[in-house]
Amino acid sequence: MESALAACCLLLALLLALPAGTAAAAGPSRTPTPAPTLTFTPTPSPRPTLTPTPTRTAAPSPTSPPSLVPTPAPTPLPTSPALTAAHEHRFGTSAEGRPLLAYLLGHGSQDVLIVGDIHGAPEVNTAALVWSMLETFEREPALLPAQLSLVVVPEANPDGLADGTRELADGVDPNRNWPTADWSPDSFGPDGYLPDGGGPAPLSEPETQALAALVTGLRPVAVLSYHSAAGLVMGGPAARAGGLFDAYVEASGYLGGYWTAYPVGGDFAQWCDDDLSIPTVEVELSDHLHPELDRNLAGTLAVVQAVARNPPY
Ligand SMILES: [Zn+2]
Repeated sequence: MESALAACCLLLALLLALPAGTAAAAGPSRTPTPAPTLTFTPTPSPRPTLTPTPTRTAAPSPTSPPSLVPTPAPTPLPTSPALTAAHEHRFGTSAEGRPLLAYLLGHGSQDVLIVGDIHGAPEVNTAALVWSMLETFEREPALLPAQLSLVVVPEANPDGLADGTRELADGVDPNRNWPTADWSPDSFGPDGYLPDGGGPAPLSEPETQALAALVTGLRPVAVLSYHSAAGLVMGGPAARAGGLFDAYVEASGYLGGYWTAYPVGGDFAQWCDDDLSIPTVEVELSDHLHPELDRNLAGTLAVVQAVARNPPY
């Protein structure tokens, strides 16, 4: 018995001494799951933050010495590409070679003509006003009744505007040179008597000739002519009969009346209204500085609406 027990213990000891894999080999085969191969994937390094390159600063140009020549006041210009709805039309050339420009707006068959700055530099606020009114109608074309078009001349005397004078380059007053019954070579202005201010003959000047041709060619249904600075609205028989004078006075709030400060002959508005029977409203702004856009836009809208309701011809 003892030897059998010893043999049994020996066998057990041998079994226990065997490696585990050997014993397992006797059971069902197990393929050991291969350990996942850990491949080292390098983490991409973060991109370097792109630091904005500083904008190149232009090297300062050497300061130019101050000019001793006075800079002329800038002429107001149409300022925005969005304001190109008006068609620019050159209707003449001034004595000093500057273009005489009209701006055409709208698709109606009847024209309303607006004229600014016949009297050059001292009345530059009338040019500013007419430019502003043109821009207003370009931004809001629905303000203009459909049957009307606008023809806008912001600067009827560009030489005077550029040269700092009220008169044309040769000294003729462009608002005393029209072929009215009371035209005279002698004239008066705010500075008193101006001999030869009316010119050697009616329409002796390229500026008045060009504007006269524009008016007779268009035959507008109404004319608005701007001056400064009497704070007054005037109208001839046609403008009064057609209600345009009253419409402008009421909407603008200016005094309506007649010019009495000094004798005026050969006046553009008088020629349009008295001689051509084109209803014409002549407006004197209140001073030489302010365009007074709001009240003049109100007056102009009242006129175009009155013309649209009751065209003169
Ligand atoms: Zn004037």
